[in-house]
Amino acid sequence: MTSEKLIENTKTVLKFTQIYCDDKHIDEKKLPETLNLEFKCEPLNVALDYHLCSTCKEVFLYSYQKLQECEHEEKPSCRKCPSPCYERPKWKQVTQIMKYSGMKLGLLKIKKLFTSIKN
Ligand SMILES: [Zn+2]
Repeated sequence: MTSEKLIENTKTVLKFTQIYCDDKHIDEKKLPETLNLEFKCEPLNVALDYHLCSTCKEVFLYSYQKLQECEHEEKPSCRKCPSPCYERPKWKQVTQIMKYSGMKLGLLKIKKLFTSIKN
């Protein structure tokens, strides 16, 4: 893992988790918070704002921690990882979030494509 990859991956996880939480947990109590990214205990001067319910926040911070601890120089896709580090229940939560938001983002992209063709 490199600091650039950590930033990139953390941003992606947060984006997907935020979409999921915005849609699925509308009635949950949420507080705006900021995460200051660190890599190997060094601050990276990157601050990410989020607005998640407690469940999604836990999943997000867990993923962030796992990314920080990722032992691979070139991080493989977690699905293809030879030494998966997620605990099973968390892994299930994360895949659910990624699947939902991935599909939503995919649909938005297709929609945009179609409207740009029409115009
Ligand atoms: Zn949530």
